[in-house]
Amino acid sequence: MSNPEHGDGEIRVELRRQSVDTHGRRILHAWAAERNFAQVAVVPDEGRLRVWVADGAATLPERRALLGSLMALATSEQLTGIVLSAGSSMLFRYVARAAGFAGPLRGDLHRDLGDPVLLVAPDVSSDQLLQELSALLPKGATVGLDRPPGLWRSWMRTASSGVMGTVHLTVHDGSDAEPLRLAVPFGEAVLVEGVAISIDTALAIRGRFRPLVDDVRIFYDQSLQGLRTGSVAGAAYSAVRDIHLSPAYASVVAMDTQPGRHLGWQPPHVALAPFTRIDSVVAHEYWHQIEFGLESSRYGDSVEFRRALGGYFGVETLEHVIKGSSKGAPAHWQEAYRRLHDEVSAYAATAPKEATAELFSQWWCTASDPPPSARFFGEVLRRVFPGVEGPPR
Ligand SMILES: [Zn+2]
Repeated sequence: MSNPEHGDGEIRVELRRQSVDTHGRRILHAWAAERNFAQVAVVPDEGRLRVWVADGAATLPERRALLGSLMALATSEQLTGIVLSAGSSMLFRYVARAAGFAGPLRGDLHRDLGDPVLLVAPDVSSDQLLQELSALLPKGATVGLDRPPGLWRSWMRTASSGVMGTVHLTVHDGSDAEPLRLAVPFGEAVLVEGVAISIDTALAIRGRFRPLVDDVRIFYDQSLQGLRTGSVAGAAYSAVRDIHLSPAYASVVAMDTQPGRHLGWQPPHVALAPFTRIDSVVAHEYWHQIEFGLESSRYGDSVEFRRALGGYFGVETLEHVIKGSSKGAPAHWQEAYRRLHDEVSAYAATAPKEATAELFSQWWCTASDPPPSARFFGEVLRRVFPGVEGPPR
């Protein structure tokens, strides 16, 4: 990042045309300094240029330069604006929003070319952060600064070592429940949309399982080795009712410097659009807290729950599915293990509690037509939590 050749405005991006795909989209490869750093698909759409961007190998300045080239391309084709399709990377969306693109969480972002070029300063004040978050949160949700009590504050100092500064937030969802509390890295550019997605998902899950996870707090921190290196995306601790997320989901610099692929290691199953990996990680970690709550308050129901899930895989209980990884296990246990691994995820097959967390995440992050495992999970879930619904569609 300190390389002067990578300074903004000095990167010359060349868009090389590669092919046209089966949807009629032009596939372009973005090159700068003899390096192909991104692929783009473009197609005119009602007078605007609709774009899809795959930019996993790009630096932030390259992303900014690419956005400039796409705007120049739209201008040269006499189009009136750009639509950035949902599903582009968080960092490209960050760069686009900073350049005046607008749109809802997880949705298309758009900008008219005639609009004046806005120079949005990176968030420097907590007021600005609150304002930007509020604009992205569901109606009725209000976000404010928290004054953490002493214990929470000192635990934060320990847990967030390695994160520059921290701002404590409370979010009320419009009901009279306790607010959601979270601690967000601050002092460098905040990945506002990433934080907003975590809050949005957390509020939705809290509302459906009320009051089981109302007291769960969210940290972005590096208290675990894996959170520091990026090999772990999230963690849940039962004793303290906390969820820990990788700082990369809240900080532009952390997202830019941690290889994105490592953030997929845990949990690895890919969320389906419009859900993002952040939705999937937050849902996974919240499930751990829901299950801790179920086990401590309704142990018998939690045993029944695992038996029902085992039944789906053709064995007596979920533990047998996991034990099917061993070569000496009965054949139908081994078959159950293979199915869990293939139908849900490899990570699901590591422990019963990861199996249920992955199933919950798969169920939560399916927009329509859930896979059979997620549909079955939803049915069993409603036996234990009557009337519980999935995410807002
Ligand atoms: Zn887990």
